[in-house]
Amino acid sequence: MEEAASRLQPARAIRPIDRKSVHRICSGQVVLNLGTAVKELVENSLDAGATNIDVKLKDYGAELIEVSDNGIGVEEENFEGLTLKHYTSKIQDFSDLVHVETFGFRGEALSSLCALSDVTIFTCHKSAKVGARLVFDHNGNITQRTPFPRQQGTTVHIQQLFYTLPVRHKEFQRNIKKEYAKMVQVLQAYCIVSKGVRINCTNQVGQGKKSSVVSTTGSSSLKENIGAVFGQKQLQSLIPFVQLPPNEAVCEEYGLSATTMPQTLYCITGFISRCDHGVGRSTTDRQFFFINQRPCDPAKVVKLVNEVYHSYNKHQYPFVVLNICVDSECIDINVTPDKRQILLQEEKLLVAILKTSLMEMFGSDVNKLSVNQKLLDLAGNLKNTLPEETEKPQVQMLPDSETEKPSREGRKIMTLARLRESFSLHQTPESNFQSPKKVKRQHSSPRQMSLDTTWSTVRTQKAALTKDLNCEKMDSNMSVPSRYLRKLEDSADSGFCSTSESDAGCSTPEGRSCVNSESVINPEEEFCSSEEQLQNEHLKTVGCGEKSSECDIQVLGAEPKLNQANDRTDPNKLSEEASSSSPKVNCFKSKSFKSEASKCIEVKNSRSSVPSVDVLVEVKKKTVPLEFSMKVLTEKVKKVIQQQQKNTETKNYRRFRAKISPGENKVAEDELRKEISKEMFAQMEIIGQFNLGFIIAKLNSDLFIIDQHATDEKYNFEMLQQHTVLQGQKLIAPQDLNLTAVNETVLIENLEIFRKNGFDFVINENAPVTQRVQLISLPTSKNWTFGPQDIDELIFMLSDCPGVMCRPSRVRQMFASRACRKSVMIGTALNMQEMRKLITHMGEIEHPWNCPHGRPTIRHIVSLDLISPE
Ligand code: ADP
Ligand code: MG
Repeated sequence: MEEAASRLQPARAIRPIDRKSVHRICSGQVVLNLGTAVKELVENSLDAGATNIDVKLKDYGAELIEVSDNGIGVEEENFEGLTLKHYTSKIQDFSDLVHVETFGFRGEALSSLCALSDVTIFTCHKSAKVGARLVFDHNGNITQRTPFPRQQGTTVHIQQLFYTLPVRHKEFQRNIKKEYAKMVQVLQAYCIVSKGVRINCTNQVGQGKKSSVVSTTGSSSLKENIGAVFGQKQLQSLIPFVQLPPNEAVCEEYGLSATTMPQTLYCITGFISRCDHGVGRSTTDRQFFFINQRPCDPAKVVKLVNEVYHSYNKHQYPFVVLNICVDSECIDINVTPDKRQILLQEEKLLVAILKTSLMEMFGSDVNKLSVNQKLLDLAGNLKNTLPEETEKPQVQMLPDSETEKPSREGRKIMTLARLRESFSLHQTPESNFQSPKKVKRQHSSPRQMSLDTTWSTVRTQKAALTKDLNCEKMDSNMSVPSRYLRKLEDSADSGFCSTSESDAGCSTPEGRSCVNSESVINPEEEFCSSEEQLQNEHLKTVGCGEKSSECDIQVLGAEPKLNQANDRTDPNKLSEEASSSSPKVNCFKSKSFKSEASKCIEVKNSRSSVPSVDVLVEVKKKTVPLEFSMKVLTEKVKKVIQQQQKNTETKNYRRFRAKISPGENKVAEDELRKEISKEMFAQMEIIGQFNLGFIIAKLNSDLFIIDQHATDEKYNFEMLQQHTVLQGQKLIAPQDLNLTAVNETVLIENLEIFRKNGFDFVINENAPVTQRVQLISLPTSKNWTFGPQDIDELIFMLSDCPGVMCRPSRVRQMFASRACRKSVMIGTALNMQEMRKLITHMGEIEHPWNCPHGRPTIRHIVSLDLISPE
């Protein structure tokens, strides 16, 4: 009782923490990293109406961050309040928050920065005759105040960010490159969304030269801002976002009713990557979302956009810039100090609009090709080129695919992707369709391409028009802050068409991928020229295997032979082909696949002549009379039981050696816990080979089964990973990479790793940003081609862990398939020596536990202690 009472007694009274300490404690939560520091300062400049913002960093921001603007400046009477906690010029009470138009409103940024670093502010208000230089202490009080000549505007100096928090400061300096990369990502968002504002950021390392990090030209168009940040080339891969009301299916999915839905709540504008394969990006590094022009991370929206994109381009991520305009009364921006989490009313509606719009854009806008129209326009030509019977299957099959998911206007429209898909399925010469070569050539001809692009130009113009209308509608009945309205109006860029125009050239990525895929799937070109008949057969089967995984139909997929064959060719290229299809095609695809699959079976049959299909067989019944005596049977049973009893007496098997007693718990535990470490492979005793595929090995009293192929494959893979220096092939002309300044820096700092991967570059430090690096050499290997997307991926990996050797995922895949081909196959008899070698290798590699494709290499079968007598 007493004890309990003393525990209940308050140890100390509850008292407020002194104000200065509170300030120090909380500031580190407002300014979390370099990114937030720069963000807050740039937001202040934008809020001050600046049209010119310069961000200067020293040592990536660790030494100094300086943001100067030509905004309105700070009035003398506000000098004191400038850096005090919760002192702001932007709102006065809570109710103002609803209509707040500025980025800032909490009055925390400058005061927190004061608490975390040494802050000096130079400012000259519009009305002032001369500027002022203000030095602040960590509590936000002015310690020095001197006149200072400068033009209208404000400059904020932040020295030694975080130095007042020693642990954070160390961490900050240690991770400065990562912090810097994240900061640039944040800054890019403001560069993109700030129309009519010129933003320029530079970095200076030590006493070195200032290098440009990112800069914009103050353009009034979103599109030009994107171009300024990511280079003109990026623009060519983008399509404008075209907003549609949610369709029935999507409404149902999200439980929305069309009647109660507010129709004009959201107005979404922006750009996104086309969904053709190779046009997207290998990472999510260029995705920017804004709500009422405020950069933010709307998790559900991000997820949905990527999901929809993935369903059209399975292996890539889109470039995204999306600005969601919504009545400010329907959102709460004051959720987190950095204001990047925003609560939205009617979020489901937003997601539904996005889903419908994106599906429509990807499903029909991109590569749209009206079969009807084409038949009308080119009726004569087509009839001539396509024999009658080759046309029929298309006509019959299309309705099937469309009953699955009827699109709004898609009934008579066949996308190019769908066409491609249908033809790629029929790559065997005995196809029902015309020969693939013919078809491929047809739709990759320049004429066809230009037909395509003119069509999409018309559509995008139409789209721009409808968008204008949408926005106007919204303007009239919403109380959106004037800042957004102004920006909304000019957001209806008419610049879209120029994208399409520049696309019209035949050297678009689209055109290239088309040619690529042709060379991959055209059986004649690819195989007959170099390989013999056998290989040819192999590859036909490969096609089926690949597709079977695509269509979820298991036909021959389970055969290991197929898997091996898969590795023989470039799985990427094949899936590249497959993934260019839209989900709408699935039904269509799987149907045609079935016929293809049966063909595969035929091919197989003709070779092995083992029927893989059940056939009815008549079995003749035989009758045999059986002598039976109950007496004899009972005697026999008795004998058996006696025998069994004897056995159990003599052979007393035991499950555990360790007794269950407190003193021996440790022994029992050890017995249960089986761990093998790499050193143990050397000690393993080889028992023999099982089923020509597995090695049975024994270590003390434990038996293991080891997959001979998987093990050898992993060893070969790791050796390739470690030791291969990929051979580069010189390009005829250096290729521009249009990397962002940060990515250029990452690349330049890790040149050696790129060279080991077969990439080489010329570096021109004096060239303008995005043009400092040119590609001069690419890795080559038989069937594998590499390109700028592999460089992007490496840069992405290296910005996370600079200096650490890594390989692009496609190189890893190539090594995996090479390793597979090199390795001992299942079905190969091995002698003791060979088996010993395999097991020894397992002890020498880093991860012996799985093959490069993920299959386990070793399994514990049994502990002999469990079954043998004591
Ligand atoms: P908030 O932005 O939430 O108001 P800050 O701490 O970021 O809080 O800024 C405090 C105040 O300082 C702002 O309200 C604004 O009046 C003034 N201020 C800050 N930066 C600038 C600037 N670059 N130009 C003009 N005034 C500024
Ligand atoms: Mg602010």
